[in-house]
Parts: sequence; C-alpha cells; structure tokens
Amino acid sequence: MSAYSRFLRSVALPVGSRLAGYGDFLPYLKSLEASQWFSSEQIQEIQNAKLRRLIAHVYQNVPFYRQVMDERGLTPADIQTTDDLVKLPIVDKKILTRYYDTTLRDQSIPRSKLIHATSSGSTAERLHYWTTKSQKAKKWAGLFRWWEMVGYEFGDSYVTFQLAPNQGFKGWPVAGKLEWLLLRHHWLSAQKMTDEVLNQYVENLKAWRPKLFRSYASTVYYLARRMNEAGLNVHVPAILATGEMLTDHMRETMERAFAPGRVYNEYGGDGMQIAAECEMHDGMHINAETYVVEIIKDGEQAPEGELGEVVLTNLEATATPFIRYNIHDVAALTHEPCACGRGLPRLSHLEGRLTDMFVTADGHWLTVHQFTAFFAKVHSVKAFQVIQKEVDFILIKLVVDESFSEADRQRIIETFRGYMGPDNRFELQFVDEIPTSPVGKRRFFISEVIEGTPSQVEIDD
Ligand SMILES: [Zn+2]
Repeated sequence: MSAYSRFLRSVALPVGSRLAGYGDFLPYLKSLEASQWFSSEQIQEIQNAKLRRLIAHVYQNVPFYRQVMDERGLTPADIQTTDDLVKLPIVDKKILTRYYDTTLRDQSIPRSKLIHATSSGSTAERLHYWTTKSQKAKKWAGLFRWWEMVGYEFGDSYVTFQLAPNQGFKGWPVAGKLEWLLLRHHWLSAQKMTDEVLNQYVENLKAWRPKLFRSYASTVYYLARRMNEAGLNVHVPAILATGEMLTDHMRETMERAFAPGRVYNEYGGDGMQIAAECEMHDGMHINAETYVVEIIKDGEQAPEGELGEVVLTNLEATATPFIRYNIHDVAALTHEPCACGRGLPRLSHLEGRLTDMFVTADGHWLTVHQFTAFFAKVHSVKAFQVIQKEVDFILIKLVVDESFSEADRQRIIETFRGYMGPDNRFELQFVDEIPTSPVGKRRFFISEVIEGTPSQVEIDD
C-alpha cells in the first residue's frame, strides 16, 4: 500500500467520514476486506446472524412486516436461516414505492435521519425509498471493496465516464471538491461523443493515467470501438463496466482498446452494490455480507446454476426494508469455490434486465447475448435494437452501412426464425441511429411484453 493511500485510510477518510456522519464507512469496509476470504460456511453464518437481527427489528418497528408475519402465523423465531426467507412474501418496486412512507417505514428511526432516495432506472416508473447515512456508508464500502478487488487503492487516480459527474462521496459536506482532489477523481462527460470529443478523451486518459476507469458498459464500448477504428490504445489496468449487460463482444472490443483481461463486470441496481467480477473473470462475487441473493423461478427458489429472477434481501437496510425484493433481473447462482480463494458466492451468469430478454410463445427465454454475438458477425450492421412488440411480433431496428446486402437481410431473417420458431412475425426497420434511453444507455433489447413474477403482496387502494 502506498504512503498516500495509508494517509487517506488512517487520517483523511476516518476523520472526514466521521465529521460528515458516515463513520460506518471505513469500519464496514475493513470488515468486508477481511470476510471476503472467509469460508463459504462462515459467510453463510454471517448472513444468518444478520438476517435474524433484521427480522427481529422489522417485526418490532415496521408495521408492514408485523402485519405480514402475524397474518402468516410467523414470529421472528421462525426465520433462523436464509432458507427460511421463503416464508416471507416477495415484494417489488411497486410495493416499496406505495408503502415506503407509511407502513414500510422503520418507526424507530427519527424522520430527521431519513434520506429520500429514488432509483435511476431506465423505465418511467421510479423506485422511492428511505435510506440513512449509515446505510449509504455501508453501500459505498461494498463498492470500494469491488474496486480494491481489481487493484484500486485509495488515492489512485480514477476516471468516471457518464452523463453526470457521479461523486463517489456525494453528500459529504466537508469533502466537496476536496474529495475529488484527495481521491484524484476525474470525470469524462458521455453527453456528446463525436470523434473529436472521443479523441480528446483518449488524450485525457493518457495524461491522467488512471488505475481505474468506470462507466456504463455501452458508453465505454462506444469509446473503445472508436479507439480501435482509429488505431488508438491506452493502458488502463481496470475497466469497470456497470449498469447494463456486458457482452463478450463488448468485452473483447474494450480489451483491445485498453488492456487484455482487465475488463470487469460490476452489477448493481436500485441503490445496491450487488456483485462484481474478481481477477478470475469467472462469474461475479456477491456482496454476501450485505445481500442475500435468491434465484426465483415460477415463484420458487431455482436449483443452483439455473436461471431465474434475482430476489434480494438487504441485510443492512431497515429505513425501508428490502426483504425478498424482486429487482427483475435474471441470473444464476453458484456456491462452488472460486479460484481466487474468496468465499463469497457468485452469480455464474447474469443475463440482465428481465426486459432485456424475450419469452417466445412456447416459453423459451431468449437473451441479449445471442443477438449481440450474432450481429457482431454481420459487419454491415453498425447498430441494432430488437423490440418485442407482441409475444409473436419482433421489430428489428438496424443501422447499416453501404455494404449491407440482400444476403445479409436473408441471414438475419433466418437467424431470427431459428431463435423464435416459425410462427412468429418479424419486421426489419432501417434507421439512422438507435436512440439512447433517458439515462444515456443504449439498449439492444426491449420487450414490451414481459412482466415477470408478480409480487406476493396485494396493494390495497
Ligand atoms: Zn473469485
């Protein structure tokens, strides 16, 4: 560890974070740094102990859970391990947003301590919930553990590349600009990405020599593609791709522009730092001391290795409890040991947003990977977006160059027939560009049909 990093960890961060009310940050980070190397069983024990504490607390202090458990004839003693979670109902964004300020609010926390939060999801419907400084501090600790896992130390230069400058320590009044200076944080705007702007960014990266570069997967992919076309290359030891699906093709493109083997997938959502890749690039380790991940298919826990919906329990959140929260992503889970030696379980596959997947009329799931892999081979297609308008009707938007041929068109149609079965209708639409979503993501795949597992609580009106 460098002297500067030691100074930050032992002086600047503890003092600054305590002054700002985020004193839980460094102690929690230190505990996470240690426990990642515990055995799978020890980590399971941490989860169970935290779960018992959480359930006892919400039973006392959150009317929603008092009522749900009373109705089911449950007491806190009935929830001993994560296997007992199935006794509680699955909830979702609708339920939390509907009740967060009434029955789902932790009555033991004074209102003055509650911090309102919303998710920045790409859909119009936003999640609203309460958090606290302690919860936020623990969330950042989870994030920085992922960064450390890929070689970052406090004080290393890092760059974020997104629409707005995302301050790692946003809300620390004493830090402000100082945080940026101390932590050597630089920001590149993803607002406008012309060739000239992207060339300038390459120069910036060369000058700043960041240890870590963090961005939405599609944004950094776009930059990397431009760099490869122009024969440009910058060595950055860790590229963290967040916020959306990272396909193999995108990863290869980024590795060519930056560094082989140094692109890491990071998975978070709705205010949670859920999982990230270690140096083995073999699935994503779950932040298991903070979140219990269940994989649910047809309302039940799916066997290990099988795809299902990601249902999360935040063991450190009570302001608005996230207990069996369906985040509507699709993944598979494994407890097999990872070669890195960490005992944290992994998501062996992350297939992305439920809305990034299609279900055909005969019940097959199609995932975005199939389509990105296919279109990567059709060189005349510069960009694409696949939209499932109805269960049996797909609209394919394509941006093509002058080399696009009738043979390409036939190949696309045949491939889609193969994926979808013969009874489905298709339409190819040639467009000048694929628009980005309001938060700046470029979505490859949109289903206007899929709903997902409904929450198991009824909303009274
Ligand atoms: Zn690992």
